[in-house]
Amino acid sequence: LSTSVKETFKFDDLQLDVRKTKPDLPDDPSKLVFGGRFTDHMLTIEWDSKDGWGRPKIGPLKNLEIHPAAKCLHYAIEIFEGMKAYKGVDDKVRLFRPDLNLSRLHRSATRSALPGFDKQELFKCIQKLVALEKDWIPKSTSASLYIRPTFIGTEPTLGVSASNKALLYVLTSPAGPYFPSGFKPVTLYANPKYIRAFPGGVGNYKCGSNYGPTVYVNIEANKKGCQQVLWLFDKEEYLTEAGTMNIFLVIKNDQGEVELITPPLNGTILEGVTRQSILDLARREGKIKVSEREISMKETLSLLENGRLLEAFGSGTACVVCPIEGFLYNDKKFAIPTMSKGAPYMTEFAKNLNQIQYGLVKHEWAPIV
Ligand code: PMP
Repeated sequence: LSTSVKETFKFDDLQLDVRKTKPDLPDDPSKLVFGGRFTDHMLTIEWDSKDGWGRPKIGPLKNLEIHPAAKCLHYAIEIFEGMKAYKGVDDKVRLFRPDLNLSRLHRSATRSALPGFDKQELFKCIQKLVALEKDWIPKSTSASLYIRPTFIGTEPTLGVSASNKALLYVLTSPAGPYFPSGFKPVTLYANPKYIRAFPGGVGNYKCGSNYGPTVYVNIEANKKGCQQVLWLFDKEEYLTEAGTMNIFLVIKNDQGEVELITPPLNGTILEGVTRQSILDLARREGKIKVSEREISMKETLSLLENGRLLEAFGSGTACVVCPIEGFLYNDKKFAIPTMSKGAPYMTEFAKNLNQIQYGLVKHEWAPIV
C-alpha cells in the first residue's frame, strides 16, 4: 500500500448537489409500503484499491451504472444495514444507536473482503443526509425514515476474488407504522430441513446473500398459513431467529422466576440492535432474570405443555417487537399464549424503546441529527 491510498473518506470532503423538492408523502403514513418510496437524495462514496476512498457525495437519487460483470451481481459481494431516524415529539430528529449499526456494517465489510473506513466519518455523512431529508419523515410516533446503507463490490471481472472497486451508498425511505392498528401476532413455520445460518458461515453478518434464499422458504410458510419462518438449527433444533428478527421467550423457569431468554451470539445469530437494547434495558431494570442461552424445540414444547411459556416475540428495527402467537412444527400447530394477558413484558420493552426513539425521554442511545 502506498501512503497516498486513502484509508477512509472524510465528512469534511463531502460534496453536495442538493435539489430541494417538496416531499411526496401520503397524508396517512400507514399508506407507505415498506421500502417502496425513496427520498430525493442519496449518499455515494467510491473506493478502488489503487487510490483508496474518494470524496463522499450527496446528490439526487439516481440509477447506478455498473458493468454487467460487477462482482456484486455474480458472487453477491454485497452487504447492507437497516436503521431508522425518528421525528420526535419535540420535532427533533433522532437516530437510534447508530454506532451499533455502523460497527456491524464495518464487520460485514471485513468479512466480505470489502475495505474498512472510519465509522465516525460515515456517521457524520449519514447525519447530513438525514438532516437534508428530514421533511420526508412523517410526524408520528409510529413512523420513521428507514436508512439503508449498502456496500457493493463493483470490479468488472469474473474471478472469485476480492473486489478492487467498490461503492458504498445510502438510501433513505419514509416508513409508516409497522402495526397500523395494534400488535398483529405472527405464526411461524418451523421446518428443520431449512437452515438459515451455520457455524463458520456468515449468519452473523448482514450479507445480502443470507436473505435471497429465505424468500422461497417464506413462500412455503405462507402457503401453510404462517407469516414467517422459525429458523431452527442442529440436531437439538435450537430456535435461532424468527424471519428477519431475533427471537425472545419469556418463561417461568424451574426456580419459579420469570426469565427472558434469547439465543447467544454464537455466529449463527445476527447481532440485532433491538436485541441488544432489550437485553440492556432488562438488565438495567433488574426485575427479571436475563439469559443468553440456547433454547431447543424440545425445551420449548415442554415449557408450552407445562404452561410456563409466557410470551414469545421477535425483535428488529422494522417492528421493534412482534408478538408470536404460535408455530407450525411437524405439521402440528402449537399456540403460544403471548397476547392472552396483553404480553406485559414485551409491551414494556416496546414502550421504553419508543420513548427513547421519539424523544419522550432523554437517552444517550438517541443522538439528535
Ligand atoms: N435477524 C436478522 C436475520 C435480521 O435481518 C435482522 C434485521 N436487521 C434482525 C435479526 C434484527 O436486527 P436489528 O434489531 O438490528 O434490526
